[in-house]
Amino acid sequence: MSSNFHPDGTLFIVSGPSGAGKTTLINAVRERLSAVKIELYFSVSHTTRKPRAGEHDGINYHYVSADTFRDMVARGEFLEWAHVHAHDYGTSKAEVVGRLLDGQDVILDIDYQGAKQIAEDTDLESRSLSVFIFPPSLDVLEQRLHSRGLNSNDEIDLRLRKAIAEIDEGKGFYDYIIINDDLEIATECLKAAIIAKKLQTKTALDAIHKMAERFKEEDRNGRTARGN
Ligand code: ADP
Ligand code: 5GP
Repeated sequence: MSSNFHPDGTLFIVSGPSGAGKTTLINAVRERLSAVKIELYFSVSHTTRKPRAGEHDGINYHYVSADTFRDMVARGEFLEWAHVHAHDYGTSKAEVVGRLLDGQDVILDIDYQGAKQIAEDTDLESRSLSVFIFPPSLDVLEQRLHSRGLNSNDEIDLRLRKAIAEIDEGKGFYDYIIINDDLEIATECLKAAIIAKKLQTKTALDAIHKMAERFKEEDRNGRTARGN
């Protein structure tokens, strides 16, 4: 079956304050996109923070020591990295670059500092789409952080303080902003943004060229068969 979508991979970046719903939305949208044959590879970041209960090395994160992280930075192994909530987090090139070149679509859950670094890289920027997930209010954000039950009160305070800076910093440079109030609506919005990017002329150019050639060929063959 022919595909509507360009064979090159696209890099999808999802950012937003902790507790805004990025993980929930990414999981939901990956499942829904699979139904239209868009498979998003979730890039597993490296971090110096310790695993939380229920998290697994290689699935949620690659958990590394501060020394290992520093060495990776020095060797230029990260596409982007940042210090977030008292720990270091980074996207390794090995997770992403080969997959994009191989035609896979990749989705990242990274903070605004990382999203900015990617936006400033012209090569990556041209094959990426960035989406900022907004909470409906700071009160709701606080409730979600408490109800998730993963962070201490001190950690929640730090996350709320960072959220304000993040919203201020982030509002300028993202391609799309989605308010995650109703989960169903927000998931559909994220799905629409991703599909729209895959159908964008410049993303789909190769597929369009091939289709145009095929139409011309079919037209020539049809005319020959009709004796024109
Ligand atoms: P993030 O990955 O941005 O830190 P999560 O996806 O872990 O955020 O979501 C934080 C909490 O909020 C989780 O308990 C999640 O189930 C809940 N949540 C996410 N989106 C919504 C929503 N639209 N309405 C209500 N609760 C939500
Ligand atoms: P958590 O510790 O709650 O899993 O994640 C904290 C924050 O780190 C989240 O906002 C998440 O988006 C961000 N984050 C996770 N991985 C990366 C990464 O590889 N790079 C950057 N810049 N941020 C990341």
